Amino acid sequence: MGLIVQKFGGTSVGSVERILNVAACVKEETEKGNNVVVVVSAMGKSTDQLVGLAKEISSQPSKREMDMLLSTGEQVTIALLSMALNQQGLDAVSYTGWQAGIVTEPIHGNARITKINTEALQSQLSNGKIVIVAGFQGITEDGEITTLGRGGSDTTAVALAAALKADKCDIYTDVTGVFTTDPRYVKEARKLLSVSYDEMLELANLGAGVLHPRAVEFAKNYQVRLEVRSSMEKIAGTVIEGEATMEQNLVVRGVAFEDEITKVTVLGLTNSLTSLSTIFTTLAQNQINVDIIIQSTTEAGTANLSFSIHTDNWLEALSVLENNKPVLGYEQLDAENKLAKVSIVGSGMISNPGVAAKMFEVLASNNIPIKMVSTSEIKVSVVIEEKNMLKAVEALHKAFELGDN
Ligand code: ADP
Ligand code: ASP
Ligand code: MG
Repeated sequence: MGLIVQKFGGTSVGSVERILNVAACVKEETEKGNNVVVVVSAMGKSTDQLVGLAKEISSQPSKREMDMLLSTGEQVTIALLSMALNQQGLDAVSYTGWQAGIVTEPIHGNARITKINTEALQSQLSNGKIVIVAGFQGITEDGEITTLGRGGSDTTAVALAAALKADKCDIYTDVTGVFTTDPRYVKEARKLLSVSYDEMLELANLGAGVLHPRAVEFAKNYQVRLEVRSSMEKIAGTVIEGEATMEQNLVVRGVAFEDEITKVTVLGLTNSLTSLSTIFTTLAQNQINVDIIIQSTTEAGTANLSFSIHTDNWLEALSVLENNKPVLGYEQLDAENKLAKVSIVGSGMISNPGVAAKMFEVLASNNIPIKMVSTSEIKVSVVIEEKNMLKAVEALHKAFELGDN
């Protein structure tokens, strides 16, 4: 007898009819003789609706109260799914994050799981129960409810699969697997049969919202067998594993993209040994996440520095820099909004020179100016204007022959 973790996302549990469909899917897995742990998201867009309600009351609600509010979404689904399974004569029991022993660091809104106390779940499983766990939520050592960041139910599922040493973790969603790029925007996108943990980690971090990046991190660290598949169509999905075994001949496996990027430029920075560390320490102390960084020196002996951040943080970043101007020692600040980041990802890049060159060539021939560049062994990212984002994605998808032929 095996243990399978199944996770169903918002759209897959978006109505009573869909919840009944999920119950049938869970039942099928138990009929194969497996123990099953099910992780669910809030129904449909209900997390967004809760965020909307909070915004109607306050423009800056307390992060603690936001977690209290948002964690209710998943609690609705666990109870309904458990009822649906009970109705079919199956023995199911629902658990909130804290009941399931999911302990997190004390950070509201984007907490990491630090530990899972599995005793309660183990004992239910050994009594033959189907356990339904609320995704996206946990509890701190001090008993405070936390959430894991948007899309975090994937992470609950994979972390539970790792802690319970499950044989497999299936992520059921509204697409049939991981595609070469977001199929909602590019109709030529093609489903990949397998992707390596490293490629998936880059894709997820670079904006491919199909999996929460920390879920991939857990899967890689604990070697969890992960499959992304459809909750509507019974077909094989995409397997995420150590080494992608299929389609190795493709150097680039996917194109990821993300909008709402802002580029901040600091001009005339005193070019001392510590100036960069002072700037980035100050930003980090204010919880501002910096992505790409470019520095150049001027003839006058000063430095110009540009970095990219999420647009949500730009006003705060500017005020932090302005408030610390005397310590940081620069002449002027500048910011450019409405930018996007487009990235190509593939482990074949390590051994194939010229991939970045080809990317730049494709963008140039489409008249798309590049504002910033960043590379790693298996990805190249460019920051461009948001209005050019989808054009760039389509052109790169085509040039690297990723689409359906
Ligand atoms: P769920 O609610 O099931 O967690 P999400 O909306 O979080 O679903 O993730 C699924 C969505 O991810 C798809 O509808 C698709 O638009 C988007 N997506 C982005 N990039 C990709 C990709 N490379 N492959 C598949 N889906 C992608
Ligand atoms: N309900 C949460 C969200 O919408 C978590 C999730 O769906 O994974 O972000
Ligand atoms: Mg999701």
